Amino acid sequence: PAFALSDPSLLVRDARIGAHWRAGERRFDVHDPATGALLAEVANLGEADTHEAIAAAAAALPAWAALPAKQRAAALQRWAALLHQHAEDLARLMTAEQGKPLAEARGEITFGASFIEWFAEEARRVYGETIPTTDPDKRYLVLRQPIGVCAAITPWNFPVAMITRKVAPALAAGCTVVVKPAEQTPLCALALAELARRAGLPDGVLNVVTGDGAQSVAIGRALCASDTVRHLSFTGSTEVGRLLMAQCAPSIKKLALELGGNAPFIVFDDADVDAAVEGAMISKYRNAGQTCVCANRLYVQDGVYEAFVTKLAERAAQLRVGNGFEAGVQQGPLIDADALAKVEAHVQDALDQGARLLTGGHRLAPHSYAPTVLADAHAGMRCAREEIFGPVAPVFRFHTEAEAIALANATEFGLASYFYSRDMGRIFRVGEALEYGMVGVNTGLISTAEVPFGGVKHSGLGREGSRHGMDEYLEMKYLCLAGI
Ligand code: ADP
Repeated sequence: PAFALSDPSLLVRDARIGAHWRAGERRFDVHDPATGALLAEVANLGEADTHEAIAAAAAALPAWAALPAKQRAAALQRWAALLHQHAEDLARLMTAEQGKPLAEARGEITFGASFIEWFAEEARRVYGETIPTTDPDKRYLVLRQPIGVCAAITPWNFPVAMITRKVAPALAAGCTVVVKPAEQTPLCALALAELARRAGLPDGVLNVVTGDGAQSVAIGRALCASDTVRHLSFTGSTEVGRLLMAQCAPSIKKLALELGGNAPFIVFDDADVDAAVEGAMISKYRNAGQTCVCANRLYVQDGVYEAFVTKLAERAAQLRVGNGFEAGVQQGPLIDADALAKVEAHVQDALDQGARLLTGGHRLAPHSYAPTVLADAHAGMRCAREEIFGPVAPVFRFHTEAEAIALANATEFGLASYFYSRDMGRIFRVGEALEYGMVGVNTGLISTAEVPFGGVKHSGLGREGSRHGMDEYLEMKYLCLAGI
């Protein structure tokens, strides 16, 4: 392949079901988004394989759930340690199949491992309750038990962290899992499965079923329809999330959905403009703008508008774009041709409606889009309503605090939001008024394993990370003891 691993056995092409690697009857191609080069031909599985994976997870469940939490935690810690030990190879796999710069890929391995470490620690703190009785003859107890077999369908933008953020709390709680990674990035998922095997996670506890776009639909349908699967966690588009939710209705499955965003990034007149520019750079251009928490709409108050857009454009123009394997590259390619076309359409629409192009606005080799800043954006543009998922920053002008809040909330999405202000009263007012699951105040970077990540409205259900992330994978059982 176009990249070399120090441990070549981490380039895994077969899916993992129970104790075995599954080659499948057919394969599908995984490409490097920067060069288009073929990286690997991976097992293209389907419905029957998915049923086997569910059966393997179900078979592994009783013993895994019955282990003392400390032993599950130890297995998870060994898995996390192997991620660190093989961080360089994992990062190379990630840059190869996803395109993000190697430094960013290394960062994601640390971030991904942090979820395993966090939930390994949390595994030992799954406390129940006793409730004061209303009847002298009775006592009330609440147990928290693993929900059962879980399914995870994950996206390509964080090929490692989106898997560990779901799998680690599930395994820590005592559940077993079937993962269906994105068709663009199965290699990271399969390397994680190999490291889980080496860490001594029992067979069947973590299964990875791979498939191309068409097979993903069939695999997803089988996971949703299964009565054995008690929980589905999905990260991806709102459109697919809605479909999966409908498909899960017949089996009344518990759902965690982390869907699209349309993050506002508000800069008030009283803000530290340099800090706001710095935060916007991180929030907007990280992963080439391909994260669900990327700033999508930048709202800047009159008094600092020109200063902000000028500085942002200067900084954006300096970003080094290229192949993620090249030293010093800060922005890699977009994931595929469709993503590039969508970004181009957004920019064209904005320009047609009077946006002012300050920098960028064109493609760059290899399969990249130049970091772009558009001034004079307004509410009629597509970029005001839809997620751009690319390195384009449309900057809108506003006059009052109330106007900024109304504009920020005028969307069906509610994942991340950001604002910059140094006024303590305003920080509380705006922080409380934003209809979002997450609010970054004077920062463009909010994610860490210790905090609850998730959205409201069409951005999803449930929270990942933090002590609350474990609740997803636990059911409460009420025990009523009588005859005392
Ligand atoms: P994106 O637009 O970011 O690629 P998607 O929501 O299309 O996001 O994909 C996220 C994940 O959902 C991927 O693993 C993909 O294979 C899977 N997926 C896409 N469509 C379906 C579907 N109809 N049923 C099940 N899984 C799907």
